[in-house]
Parts: sequence; structure tokens; C-alpha cells
Amino acid sequence: GQHHKIIIIGGGTGGITVAARLLRKDSKLDIGIIEPSSKHYYQPAWTLVGAGTYDLEDTIRDEKDFIPKGATWIQDKVTSVDPDKNSLTTAEKGTITYDYLVVAAGIQYNWDAIPGLKEALGKYGVTSNYEKDMTTYTWELLQKTKSGNALFTQPATPIKCGGAPQKIMYLAEDYWRKQGVRENINVIFATPGTVIFGVKNFADALNKIIKNRNILTRYYHKLVEINPEKKEAIYEFTKPDVKAVLTDEDRKLGIRLEGDNKFVIPFAMLHTPPPQSAPDFIKNSKLAKPDDPYGWVDVDKHTLQHVRYANVYSLGDASSTPNAKTGAAVRKQAPVLVENLLDTMKNAPLKDNPVYDGYGSCPLVTRYGRMVLAEFDYDNKPTPSFPFNLAKERYSMWLMKKYFLPWLYWNRMLKGKA
Ligand code: FAD
Repeated sequence: GQHHKIIIIGGGTGGITVAARLLRKDSKLDIGIIEPSSKHYYQPAWTLVGAGTYDLEDTIRDEKDFIPKGATWIQDKVTSVDPDKNSLTTAEKGTITYDYLVVAAGIQYNWDAIPGLKEALGKYGVTSNYEKDMTTYTWELLQKTKSGNALFTQPATPIKCGGAPQKIMYLAEDYWRKQGVRENINVIFATPGTVIFGVKNFADALNKIIKNRNILTRYYHKLVEINPEKKEAIYEFTKPDVKAVLTDEDRKLGIRLEGDNKFVIPFAMLHTPPPQSAPDFIKNSKLAKPDDPYGWVDVDKHTLQHVRYANVYSLGDASSTPNAKTGAAVRKQAPVLVENLLDTMKNAPLKDNPVYDGYGSCPLVTRYGRMVLAEFDYDNKPTPSFPFNLAKERYSMWLMKKYFLPWLYWNRMLKGKA
């Protein structure tokens, strides 16, 4: 079988960034990148595509143009990994071995985990900006919806870009206001969570926006089923020691109770991310964190080195680091991983190297032309990149999201330069 000194699984945000950085440090490195897709996607812009303010085509490039010079692209899909043997198998090319492994395989969508969701998707008013081909359906639904319940929700699993379920809601609400149909639409945010955002100063800012714009929030709502034909979402109410009870407002919205603790919410349209986990090939391997239901690659949260296999590293959505799973986090993880991996290859200690502090960022678009930039670390401590109050809605940040960040991604980050 094939052998490479370094194998990188996944040629998405993390895989390409790491490969480019490694080769900038040492152009002679033997690196194989295993990536099945012939296209590379800039996923953060899919929220804007769903709101009709970004072209889907502009988020798609050819993967071949981003495989760094000197790396070998193995266009195949990993099906299993055996870290005890430094070996993995792929769907077509069979066994491949490595000396060092970087796992950057991203997150897996588990549409089947919620009965009815897959059947409803793309029809029956159910959409998701997480699926490239659904982004344009989101925009279609925004334009078509003139009355009824617009339900924005999220599954109870971890998800990438935790802010995406509400970003599209703020844009939709703004759009309907501009179209003059807002009065006839009930904008509802139903989440299994207990707060609108995990970092206090941003939560305060968002709660103000929610109140001013008459968005209805429902916490402790775990989505358990969708009835496609009836266009209803069924939620288990998970607040400890509190029973689901209908309010007058609930009745006006057509919400009813089912069983002893479920809310049934009818919708004209519904947006949700799919339930998510690590890819199955990781979950079923020795790389996964033991007893973790989601199967993330078990790495040290500061060094990104595997806790049991010193020649294995992981970053991005597939790794167990407890940060907000975003491309912004990958940008800060990649330099740390690269330095540590190169030192591991030289048998040098890692202890004096810089560590990953959990930085994640969530550009929360709150209207067309307005954005709040949430940036924070493992301790939920704000880590602002700019010297002004980023919890305030700003036009400058919207411009950054729409124009500067995509440019930075394609031209700097994927080239290993930022
Ligand atoms: P990915 O970039 O997803 O790459 C994983 C790669 O692994 C893919 O190319 C895939 O084909 C490949 N792969 C999968 N399985 C296998 C296999 N078995 N074998 C080989 N290869 C495999 N981030 C932000 O920073 N800001 C935002 O505003 C933002 N908004 C977002 C909005 C949406 C709607 C979505 C969906 C994401 C958003 N993100 C945002 C998140 C960001 O895109 C991800 O966190 C980032 O891409 C993670 O990088 P990654 O390398 O871990 O995974």
C-alpha cells in the first residue's frame, strides 16, 4: 500500500491550512491529503446565501487549486483507522500507512437522528443552511413566507458554528420587516439550551435585539420529531421539575400539548442544523474519546496532540477541544498544531510552545448591514480583535463578514499565511 510521512485526513478548512503551513516551514515534507471532494466550500457565507445576499457559486472553488504545491492529494474517503498500526483504510485505494497523522475530517451530519426531518428537508418548508443545496431553498422560503410561524431551531447535539441557527433568523426577521409582512409572521426561536448565547455580554446584547424586534424565545425545547405533511415540530420540554403548560400566547400561535410533556409547534417554515457528531470512522476507532457519545478525536485541548498516540494530532470540528467549532478556531489552532507536530517529529519537547487557548469567534449578523462580533476563549472570556465594543451592532463588521473574511480565507488562511 501507499505510505506517507504525514497523512492528513480531510482537505477542508483545517486540513488545507495545516498542509500549507507545514510546507511553508519545510517544502520537502512528504504529505498526503486524503479528501474525497473535488470542491472546497467556504461554509461561513452560507448564512448570507440563505438570506439572498451572497452568491452560492462564490462559496465554491476547485479543491485542486488549494492542495499546496508539494503535497499529494489522495482523492478517496477514509473508512477506518488503526492507530496501533499507523495505518488506515480507504474506500477505493485500500490500506495507507503513515508515520504521523493529522485528523481534520470535520463533522458528520446525522439527519436520520430526528424522525421526519430528512423527509421534510427541502420540501414542506423545512430547510438548513448547513446543507449547501438547501441554502437557496432557505432564500426561497424567506421570500414565500408571508404569514404564520417561522420556526428557527437547533438539535440537542453539539453543532459547528453555534450562532448560525440564530443568524439566519435575524436576517429573515429584517427581510420580512422590509417587505411589510412582519406583522403577520411569528418569529420563534426554540432551542434545547437555557440561554441565547454562552458569553454574558453578547447574550445581553442579543436579548435586547430579541426584545426590540419581538422575537419569541423558547428554551429547554428538545426537537424530537417533525411531521412533514402536517408541518409540525414536536419538542420534549426538558426544564427540570417543570411541566409543559400552554399559555394564551401559545394557543394564539396554534401550539398544543402532546403526551405529558411535549409541545407541538405548527410552522410555515422551519430552519435547523442537522444533529451532528464526529464521522463514524473516527467514532468507531481507537482515536475517539472513550465513552464520548459524539466520538471526537481525543486530543489535549492546549497542544492538540492525541492523549494516547503521540504521533497523532487533530484540529477543527472533529477534535474533542471544547471550543466553539468554527473556522475562526481552526485559524488559531493550525499554527499551534504545526509547531507541535514538527517538534514531535524532531523528538523535541512541546512544553515551551504556544498553546491553543480555546479562541472561537462567532460573527453574529443581526440585520442586513449589521453585525455583532462575538470572540471568546475556553473560559468564555471575551478576546476582542478590535479596540472597540464588539457587542454593539456595526456596519464595519458586516463588511468584514461579507467581503474581508472570505478574501482572508481563500488568499491567506488556506495558503498558510494567516
Ligand atoms: P471542514 O472544513 O468541514 O472539512 C472537513 C473535510 O473532511 C471535508 O472536506 C470533508 O469532505 C472531509 N472528510 C469528511 N469525511 C472524510 C473521510 N471519511 N475521509 C476523508 N475526508 C473526509 N465558521 C466561522 O468561523 N465563522 C462563521 O461565521 C461560520 N459560519 C458557518 C455557517 C454554516 C452554515 C456552517 C455550515 C459552518 C459555519 N462555520 C463558520 C464553521 C466552519 O465552516 C467550520 O468550523 C470549519 O470549516 C471546520 O473546519 P474542518 O477542517 O474541521 O472541517
